[in-house]
Amino acid sequence: MFKIPEWTFEFHGHRCPFMPIGYRMGILALEILKVGKSLDHQMHVFSEMGVGHPQGCMQDGIMSATGATFGKGMIERMNYGKVAAIFWYPGKKDAIRIVLKNEFQDKLAPHEFFKFRKQGIEPSGIPENVRKDIINSVLNAAVEELFNVSILHDFKYTPVKGSFNKVKCEVCGEYTFERYLREKDGKKVCIPCSEREAEETVIHLPNLHTAGKS
Ligand SMILES: [Zn+2]
Ligand SMILES: [Zn+2]
Repeated sequence: MFKIPEWTFEFHGHRCPFMPIGYRMGILALEILKVGKSLDHQMHVFSEMGVGHPQGCMQDGIMSATGATFGKGMIERMNYGKVAAIFWYPGKKDAIRIVLKNEFQDKLAPHEFFKFRKQGIEPSGIPENVRKDIINSVLNAAVEELFNVSILHDFKYTPVKGSFNKVKCEVCGEYTFERYLREKDGKKVCIPCSEREAEETVIHLPNLHTAGKS
């Protein structure tokens, strides 16, 4: 059985099948690219996931395995709605794309775990034996059963250059990194200040009129 470190579940928050799928995806990427987990700004991941799907949990697994974390700015989400990701590593000519096989997704789909999920029950509320069973089917699967891998030859990607240059917005006075400053009425301003009049403050309140209805 594939061994997944316990800390990854602690980091992710609940026990679900998609975080381990992402973890295995990330480990496979490291093996194919012949690199270790990134300590700094090496591995870049382009996740093809979108928002609002339990499959999105895979991204926490990918971050855990590769070190390409959101905080380090090493993972982008492309919103294609696929359980797939592209892995790029500096100095490597080719990038790789890993996608979870349709057949494996079809194999998981009838599992009791999803009956609970479809009733709106969150993974932490699903009985432990049900979660353990679906996670084990991920950990026991052979790599070939899980993933299709393709090589993206001569993948061109230039990471954004790191910058420490920050300037005070001339309206709100808050430090803003230079790349994000906009020009408005001859002033260098931050993005929120560029979109409204200086004296105007927009506060988005919940719509109290409709809040009571459902
Ligand atoms: Zn999850
Ligand atoms: Zn501002």
